[in-house]
Formats: sequence, C-alpha cells, structure tokens
Amino acid sequence: MENKKIFRASIINPRNHAVADCFVDGAIYTEDGIIKKIGYFSDVIKGCENNIETVELDGVLMPGFADVHLHWVQHQVRGKYSGELLTWLKEHIWPEEASYIDTGKAGQAAEEFYADMLRAGTVMGMSYSSPHAAATEIAMQKMRGDWIIGNVLMAINAPNDLTDYSLHDPILLNEIMMRNDRHHYALTPRFAPNLSTEILSYLGMIAVQTSSFVQTHLAESNAEIAWVKELFPDAESYTQVYDKAGLLTPKTILGHCIEMNDSEWQCLFARGSWVAHCPSSNEALGNNRMPLEKLQEYHIPYALATDVGAGPSHSMLHVIQRFIAIHRKAGIKISFQEALYRATLAGAEAMNRDAIAGNLCPGKRADFILLPSKQKNQSWDGWFSECIGGTMSELEERPQGTWLASERAA
Ligand SMILES: [Zn+2]
Repeated sequence: MENKKIFRASIINPRNHAVADCFVDGAIYTEDGIIKKIGYFSDVIKGCENNIETVELDGVLMPGFADVHLHWVQHQVRGKYSGELLTWLKEHIWPEEASYIDTGKAGQAAEEFYADMLRAGTVMGMSYSSPHAAATEIAMQKMRGDWIIGNVLMAINAPNDLTDYSLHDPILLNEIMMRNDRHHYALTPRFAPNLSTEILSYLGMIAVQTSSFVQTHLAESNAEIAWVKELFPDAESYTQVYDKAGLLTPKTILGHCIEMNDSEWQCLFARGSWVAHCPSSNEALGNNRMPLEKLQEYHIPYALATDVGAGPSHSMLHVIQRFIAIHRKAGIKISFQEALYRATLAGAEAMNRDAIAGNLCPGKRADFILLPSKQKNQSWDGWFSECIGGTMSELEERPQGTWLASERAA
C-alpha cells in the first residue's frame, strides 16, 4: 500500500545560491516518503484523491540540513576546549578520540549523536570517526539520516593508541579500503601531517580507482602550514601535497581552506573539489576568517558545516548565524537564499545526492524540518533573521520537528 500524505504549511525551498521558492500557504504531497508535488496548497490538492490524509502544520517547512564536515566522536566534548589548532588536538581531542576503542561508549555516543542531529534539523552529512574500525562500524549501523563516514587514517606523528600501523602496508591498506561501502564510506586521511607521501599516494590511487569520497583538512591554521612545510619540504604548498597524491577529485571535500594562495585556489577549481566551510569552528579556535571572496572569485563549490567538536554547536542554524555575521564584518553581504542553499542543497551536491535529497523538489526524499511561523506582513528576509537569532542552545532547539522519510517508512 502506498502511504500518501499532504503536508500543509508555509514552505521555503532553496533552488540554488540565489533563488528559493516561497509559498505562504504551501503544501507538499508525498508517496512512500518521496515528494511528488510541491507548491501552493490550492495547486497541490488539484488532481489528488479526496481521502488523502492532510497534516496541517503551524510553521515554515524546509528541507533538513546537510552538515558536510564534523567529527561525531567529538560530539560529547563540542565547544569544551579551544586554543591553537595543534595544541587543541594533542591535548584534548586525541585523548577523547582514543576512548572510542570502548565499543560500549561508542554505541551510546552514536545514539546520542544522531538524536541530537535530528533534533537540530540535520538529516544528512559527512562525518569523521576515530581511527577504530569498530567505532566506525557502530556509527554506520546506528545511522539515522544519510551519512558518509570514515575512520580517520593516522599513521605517523600521532599517539600510539591512535596510530594505525597497518597503513604502512599497501596490500593491507588496499584490502581495508576495498571492503567498504562506497556510498556511505569516505577515505579520511585526517590531515597531511598524519601520513607519509607514500601512504597519501596509495590513498589517492584508491580514491580514483574506486571513485571514493575523500574528506580531509586543508590549511586551517598557520602553525599547521608551517608543520606541513617541514614535513613535506618538496611540496610548493599544502594543497600540492594532496594534489600530487591524486587526492583532489570532484568527490573530495576539504575542511577549512583558510590560509591558501592563488595557485592553490586555481588547483581546487581545476580539480572540482569542494570546500567545507566551518565559520563557527574557525571563530572558536581563533583561526582567521575563511576568504569567501576567493571562493567566489575562483568559483569554488562550497557547503557549510559545524565541524563539531571544534565547532561549539551541532546546529546548522548556529553555523548560518556565524557565517552571515563573520563575513558581514568583512563587508560581504550574504542573502538568506544563499545561506539556506549552502546549508542544504549544496551539501547534498557535495555528497553526490542532489538528485535524491537537499531540497523539496519532486522525486526527492521527504526529509524536512519545521521552523517557527512567519508573521503576517513579515518579509521572508525578516523571518529568516529571526530564525537564526538567539543563543546557541536556543538555535539547537529551534526546529519544531524533523521528518525523515526512512524512519516514517520503518
Ligand atoms: Zn574537522
């Protein structure tokens, strides 16, 4: 039996970086969790059978968020520590990640993570796990929503309990990589300092051969760049370390990209790789502002992300708030259409899922959230400003509901 429903509410549906369709009295019609129609309520009900269940919602319905860069194993300590990137990693984050060898802890933390994400309106994204295969498997099995996950690969310059010595054996490495589900798995070299030139090249080869997603960090802080220079003296830039290894493809998502020169931007454009822009994390760790004007100048595709746990909140509404505020200070005005797109459809595009997710167009999954109502006479711009106003914890609780097609069908 097909499960048919009409959801009636105000609707905002991002289409691209400049356009979002807005319907004050709108509706979506879904069959078995797939959107069949969207538009004004009066138009949507035309041609529908009379007895279809109609769910009347008081608020604004929009697609759920996509968060393309976070560390689920840091969720429990998000925002707890700050400071310079490398010190922060070594003193606080790596010891926390090491504790995920405990599968009991990993199981409980994974359940909390997914529940928190859904409550904050995030229905899909890309996530770094700890190096442990078991913790990564747990994150896959307990998955709610649609995630791409990878165990961070660390072979050198890391504590013993986070170092995977098997990565030095290319045959083993290949076997490990070939076993994974390519739709939900990403090759995840943590960052260049944790891998040798040889291992990075093997990973690049696997990425190309298997058409895998790749996620890693790039040019987040000046201390990190100095370290990379010391470790890879032959490379002209940090970006070149990855490029020489063959790791930059259209399925590569690079976290941060703050301290970049023009030839590095040109390289990213030529490879078609994505930037995961994490404004709240950059602010929390005291890094420089990511030069958004360079992404615009070089037409680099990008999507927004929380980068939990350097990012203090898993709420994409909080990320949007910081995104707009930080760049406004530098004289760049970001429209609400752009912000919405970067937090939803752009993420789905980065994840190669824009044909099935990312907004509310017909044929896509009915994964959506309900935000507070728009007042009469209020502009959509005004409504949006109100939605992203307030404290971090208020923003985490702002969605009034999250609907996931996969869970309704279950
Ligand atoms: Zn990160």
